[in-house]
Amino acid sequence: MHGLMMNTPLTITSIMRHVERNSPEGEIVSVTADQPLHRLTYRQAFARARKLANALNRLGIASSERVATLAWNDYRHFELYYAISCAGLVLHTINPRLFAEQIEYIVNHAEDRYIFTDVMFVPLLEKLAPQLPGVEGYVVMTDAAHMPQSTLPNLLCYETLLEAESEDFEWPELDENTASALCYTSGTTGNPKGVLYSHRATVLHTYASALPDVMNLRAGDVVLPVVPLFHANGWGTTYTVPMVGAKLVFPGPKLGDGETLHRLMESEGVTAALGVPTVWLALLQYLRDSGVTLTTLQRTIVGGSACPLAIMDEFREKHGVETHHAWGMTEMSPLGTFNSLLPGMETLDHQALQAVRAKQGRAVYGVEMKIVDDEGNELPWDGERFGTLKVRGPWIASDYYRTGEKGSALDSKGWFNTGDVATIDASGYMQITDRTKDVIKSGGEWISSIDLENAAVAHPGVLEAAVIGVAHAKWAERPLMIVVPGEGGNLDKETLLEFLAAHVAKWWLPDDIVFVDEIPHTATGKISKVGLRERFGDYRLPTDTED
Ligand code: AMP
Repeated sequence: MHGLMMNTPLTITSIMRHVERNSPEGEIVSVTADQPLHRLTYRQAFARARKLANALNRLGIASSERVATLAWNDYRHFELYYAISCAGLVLHTINPRLFAEQIEYIVNHAEDRYIFTDVMFVPLLEKLAPQLPGVEGYVVMTDAAHMPQSTLPNLLCYETLLEAESEDFEWPELDENTASALCYTSGTTGNPKGVLYSHRATVLHTYASALPDVMNLRAGDVVLPVVPLFHANGWGTTYTVPMVGAKLVFPGPKLGDGETLHRLMESEGVTAALGVPTVWLALLQYLRDSGVTLTTLQRTIVGGSACPLAIMDEFREKHGVETHHAWGMTEMSPLGTFNSLLPGMETLDHQALQAVRAKQGRAVYGVEMKIVDDEGNELPWDGERFGTLKVRGPWIASDYYRTGEKGSALDSKGWFNTGDVATIDASGYMQITDRTKDVIKSGGEWISSIDLENAAVAHPGVLEAAVIGVAHAKWAERPLMIVVPGEGGNLDKETLLEFLAAHVAKWWLPDDIVFVDEIPHTATGKISKVGLRERFGDYRLPTDTED
């Protein structure tokens, strides 16, 4: 027997309608390339989204076709998020930090019909355009006064396009499983793979993300997504923040600029901000150098890479800001786990509390997790054993877009292999210890490169640290640590090894430490272990004495 409840489709359009009705005066504040600070309300933004939908219609883009964006975080990108998906088209957010060949590949693979671009990416597109035969036109996200001179074919201006359209548009009633957005993961090998989100998955992810022990969002919040909107839906902020009626603050192209972030936080009364660890390093550095503090910020949400405890400590101790670790993937919309304390944990001693905070957190309802060994046997949740992390749930990819191999993303029981290695403790807190391919296998035992990196960056003389496994005749592989020294720059190997010895098992200690000026990063801001392996792959460790 079926229940007798309405089968209302879960669509992004329903979020938009809810916001228009219930929080029309909620604000979106943006820094954009053409304006230092721009303000509009949700009512205005959705009215503009209807004009945009009319324009897309006029351009002849049909149901389910892909429309791409190459843009930072601002109100125009927000409007595109709603206009494209709610018109029944697919929003393809492109990461401009990808290599040019990767952008060429994904635009052609996605068969994008139009690309909406920020002014600053026009030169990049001019170079690529001859290789993008399927793209019919380029829309520059600016007004007529700021339109660049360009050789791009069929060049259009965003504001001019909107001016010509009416605010009346009848949003189509979509099936909730309709594709809404497409985001390619920048895999380290092979071509990037497309993750195709649906309206239903997005709505469920939006509900879950806002929960009190997750992002804890409410109408009174002011949220600054420093995570780019092209990185896994900007962690869902374009949906979650309006859904609860909170104010959105977008930093435009100034994501890594500590001064702008601080100014926006203070002038707009930001209460919650989201981003990868590197942006927080930039902000904290600015706060240190200028001697200012944060008066309204209550919490930061950090994901994308493991957040060093040093960042969390500095936020809490100097600025009264609590940092929450979150973990997820492009394939997971992206949220999987979130770190909030359970009742009673506040009274734990400092060290025990730090150990909890360093973990990536507990599964959000909607995400099932398990860890397995190399034979696929499930491992206990004891916080000790580590294995491959597998997940399943309604906002996790079941397949990649048009790979030609259907069902390739899941195992026979429907679990998605995250490629991460993790422990899970008895309270359900998951901790990433490595990527499967980065774990260091020393004499048959596993060493976590992330634990070693976290331990190293806790030293004040270390700005950034990365650990890779290099060949060793006796142990098969041993850790090599690569360090970018911090201010002062007079840290030596022995001092750092002594410091590390107090934090990790003796047999985990790196066999050597090299100091460098810079560590390579991927397009999503993570340390590029591939780049490091290319540079240090043949490194001969001083302990590797057998010929
Ligand atoms: P992406 O799809 O680019 O978001 O990358 C997802 C991957 O980033 C995950 O599989 C993890 O390896 C890594 N990741 C994401 N969040 C965290 C975190 N909080 N701590 C450690 N690694 C993370």
